[in-house]
Amino acid sequence: MRMKKKAKIKRIGVLTSGGDAPGMNAAIRSVVRTAIYHKMEAFGIFRGYEGLINEELKILDHRSVSNIISRGGTILKTDRSDRFKTVEGRRRAYEVIKKNRIDGLVLIGGDGTYRGGRLFNKEWGVPCIGVPGSIDNDIAGTDYTIGSDTAVNTALEAIDKIRDTATSMERIFIVEVMGRSSGYIAINAALSGGAEDVLVPERKYSIQQLCQDVVEGNLRGKMSWIIIVAEGVARAGDIAKIITETTTLETRVVTLGHIQRGGSPTAKDRTLATRLGAEAVNLLRKGVSSKAVGVTGSKINVVGLASAVTKKSKDVDSLYKLIKILT
Ligand code: ADP
Repeated sequence: MRMKKKAKIKRIGVLTSGGDAPGMNAAIRSVVRTAIYHKMEAFGIFRGYEGLINEELKILDHRSVSNIISRGGTILKTDRSDRFKTVEGRRRAYEVIKKNRIDGLVLIGGDGTYRGGRLFNKEWGVPCIGVPGSIDNDIAGTDYTIGSDTAVNTALEAIDKIRDTATSMERIFIVEVMGRSSGYIAINAALSGGAEDVLVPERKYSIQQLCQDVVEGNLRGKMSWIIIVAEGVARAGDIAKIITETTTLETRVVTLGHIQRGGSPTAKDRTLATRLGAEAVNLLRKGVSSKAVGVTGSKINVVGLASAVTKKSKDVDSLYKLIKILT
């Protein structure tokens, strides 16, 4: 039987799901302490939806979230759950919710996590509020996702270091950053790192044009290049190979990989996580269901979970144009 509408929310659950992102801990802390402030109990659910199905949960008190605001990753761990994608898996998850008398859930994750939450709410009536945790800034209804600022800064720090050797050795560096279907890290790291070019999934690119630009630059006396590639576009090694074969110039490849997921969150990510975690709890208290929290400008924005998983509008072209003007 579906959950009946209750007058008062007494006990909430919080989980992190999908890919981890720096700032998730700050969001957990905010959820737990806001709940306690309002005399509610907060259950930490471990390992995302998989942990919910397996009843891996415990009450989190005020002190259990001490000293985590500055830590990357998630103290609740995260996982992907194929079982939660099945009707039977979600039925089992609902049994756990019922048994533990949990009145609502805060789901910290990406669009997959939101899709799961929306379905779960539709089927079983459990109030679900999504908090956007993703390094890719790929969720609609919010200007920024928690973790995206830290990831860009991590990539930028690496690019600055690579620039030192690229300039000294006069080499072409191809730097691969994270982003399977989002060029957010790539384009922002390229713009702020002064990269010469960037390849992102949102934009068509021409490898011939890129090679021609490198040759023309070389003729003008430009000896060092940094070209950023989002992982969803191509492997940096393949791009480097083509450039070397076409231009006969030497290239070097750097793949930044998982360092972009970790690390202490920036002030911007901590602030965002703290505000959104608290807002998620406030929405549950008000009886709101199946929504996602975010920010537009300096204001908190609340949208339906369904609309948060639609395509996010991006202004990649104007940023790209600026990069090329400044090269
Ligand atoms: P993210 O939340 O970072 O986008 P995933 O796409 O891996 O990460 O989604 C996290 C989890 O959310 C999945 O492992 C699955 O349990 C659940 N999920 C994703 N999509 C759906 C869906 N369409 N229906 C039910 N659950 C889903």
